[in-house]
Amino acid sequence: MSDTQPRKRILTGDRPTGKLHLGHFVGSHRHRLALQDQYECFFLIADLHMLTTKPDKEDILAISDNARAIVMDHLAIGIDPAKATFCLQSAIHETYELQLLLSGLITVERLQQLPTIKDMAAAAHMEQIPYNLLGYPVLQSADILLPRAHLVPVGKDNESHVELTRQIARRFNNAYGEVFPLPEPYVVGGTLVGTDGQAKMSKSLDNAIFLSDDEATVRRRVMGMYTDPNRISADVPGRVEGNPVFIYHDFFNPNHAEVEDLKARYRAGKVGDVEVKEKLARALNAFLDPMRERRAYYEAQTGYVDELLYEGTLRAREEAKQTLLAAKQAMGLTGVWNRISRGAERRRKKAEATT
Ligand code: ATP
Ligand code: MG
Repeated sequence: MSDTQPRKRILTGDRPTGKLHLGHFVGSHRHRLALQDQYECFFLIADLHMLTTKPDKEDILAISDNARAIVMDHLAIGIDPAKATFCLQSAIHETYELQLLLSGLITVERLQQLPTIKDMAAAAHMEQIPYNLLGYPVLQSADILLPRAHLVPVGKDNESHVELTRQIARRFNNAYGEVFPLPEPYVVGGTLVGTDGQAKMSKSLDNAIFLSDDEATVRRRVMGMYTDPNRISADVPGRVEGNPVFIYHDFFNPNHAEVEDLKARYRAGKVGDVEVKEKLARALNAFLDPMRERRAYYEAQTGYVDELLYEGTLRAREEAKQTLLAAKQAMGLTGVWNRISRGAERRRKKAEATT
């Protein structure tokens, strides 16, 4: 692709509920790394989305630090700050406006049928669904359409939201004129098990290894990992399949010969859990070391992350402003106010002339 041709855009993001862990990396962020050279990436700190399930004042007060931590985690994994645009959703005021304009293009029934909404409500122990949670896919549509993103990397469960965004965009374009390009979902994935053997690594389950964990913490968490519960001593043949330590070895240990040797000995009852875990801790720390170096480099530059998020948000706002104006013009909404204000202006001038 030539340098003069603008790259296609990606929009994706994170709710600022805490720092990133290995599960996020596997399920989402490693794909961002792979796509950053090919696409112009907008990484949204989706704090308005956080309000759907975490509206407490203390959650809101934690947004700035969590946002900083997430941006820093991106830099640590190798996202290039010169290429990426990090932006803060709540500071992009056009988002609130566009969500309202889009909300007439979709029915309550259609939103109620999305399994994700029910799942989120259940996960947050909500018995009834608040209005903003029901409307969350419409807000997501506004996020995607404002920078006119072409590609939206999402987990399998969120694919339906991009489909909904396409439907909304299509309806808008048909009703008022071509404003929005139709975004494509880019389904990424892979779910990483927790250190406790639960299906998903998750910070609220306290079974996570964070990208920012230091060497000793990683070692401690690995040594405490869940393995084959039926294996009471090192000479009992163990199960490799579905065993979290081997799932992690497969993903994070590049020394395949070592992993195969450990698996064979584990199956034969010829290796202790301690050796398997020691080697995993070493592999994980080697995996995280380059991230630690980049983190140290950026952390030494006080205020850098704030500046990056600030500048990125201004840039995203500029894009959003243009898109919102185009949408309002297409709808004829800008004209309403213009006509009224011109009328008022004429009357004021006339009054001035007669006095
Ligand atoms: P919480 O405990 O607050 O739910 P979490 O650690 O589970 O936090 P989420 O904010 O729920 O993180 O996850 C955001 C996104 O990150 C998910 O939609 C998914 O794409 C990805 N993700 C999170 N955990 C994992 C995991 N264990 N494996 C793969 N992807 C994950
Ligand atoms: Mg979760």
